[in-house]
Amino acid sequence: MSFRNLIHLAGVGKSYGAVNVLKPVDLTIGDGEFLTILGPSGSGKTTILRMLGGFTPPSTGRILLDGVDITDMPIFERPFNTVFQDYALFPHMSVAKNVGYGLKMRRRPRAEIDAKVADVLAMVELSDKAGRYPAELSGGQRQRVALARAIVCEPKVVLLDEPLGALDAELRRSMQDFLKALQRRIRTTFVFITHDQEEAISMSDRIVVMDHGKVEQVGTPKDIYYRPQSEFVAKFFGENNILPARLTAGADPAIESPLGGHALHGAAPAGTCSVAIRPESFSLGEAANTAAGQRSMVGRLESLTFLGATTQLVVRLGDGSPHTVKVRLPTPDLGEGVGIGEAVSLRWSTADVSVLNA
Ligand code: ADP
Ligand code: MG
Repeated sequence: MSFRNLIHLAGVGKSYGAVNVLKPVDLTIGDGEFLTILGPSGSGKTTILRMLGGFTPPSTGRILLDGVDITDMPIFERPFNTVFQDYALFPHMSVAKNVGYGLKMRRRPRAEIDAKVADVLAMVELSDKAGRYPAELSGGQRQRVALARAIVCEPKVVLLDEPLGALDAELRRSMQDFLKALQRRIRTTFVFITHDQEEAISMSDRIVVMDHGKVEQVGTPKDIYYRPQSEFVAKFFGENNILPARLTAGADPAIESPLGGHALHGAAPAGTCSVAIRPESFSLGEAANTAAGQRSMVGRLESLTFLGATTQLVVRLGDGSPHTVKVRLPTPDLGEGVGIGEAVSLRWSTADVSVLNA
């Protein structure tokens, strides 16, 4: 899916005194995009969101909205709304009053407020709770009130800082589906923070992966998963095989690794490098049946773990090789199976081998 550019962060960085907490970020956010900022605690996610929202000024760089510089625009003038992790509902106001508050501050006519509040309460499936107070609601319901309050003024962008963090696992999953469906329906840009990889992968159009105040990679969930550019990203999402590699010199630089040689796509890595391939990127197959762009290698089976729908194999890449790979196969593909210590022919596509910068 492609989006019209809405927001541009141009070299936006942040320091507190002498301490740099965010290296300059260059990022565009699309109109209607679901963009997730993902990273471990302390990596700088909230810092980016706070600067977008106008809660704290950047130390370097500019923020543009539709080409207009809004770096110095006060919070309440930005057509943005924020959903905080603790929801920040007014305890003494009913659900309807909480949701209508922003419209009331904007001095909208009473009839319009009532109609819009009724509309968004229907959207978040809380029409029957309009008269309740926050203390009379469950966690998931409070979450939906906070969402309704954020979208009722029809902001261009909704900023959500770990909004699902306080919910238990089951409720969290149903809120993920709910939030995503709501975002698709209203087509409003969501900038969503999480530290949960699966949540990011399942909900986002694109993911910004952060570590230690630095953007490690920006891409679609599939890019991030199958085309990691750094060891951090390769290890951050699920299981991966990371193998040492080196760049061979010459007119046609290539990558040499325990998986053999691969043409280098894209830029040459700086310094030392490694390669990554997902366990599920392998299949079983003889060299004789290898298609263009595929490679094969005979290894030796070291272990086999039945995991239900899939089975995990550990395969040594040739006798005496110091390297093994994890291989994840659909269990039915194993057929009669192979025994420990026996030879296995692995096949993979060179396109599934990512080159990582150290
Ligand atoms: P995240 O949301 O990814 O957990 P934050 O963006 O909140 O991370 O914080 C990034 C870093 O900036 C952390 O090391 C944090 O301690 C630091 N930090 C955040 N706010 C301030 C502040 N007001 N003063 C000094 N350091 C801060
Ligand atoms: Mg945070």
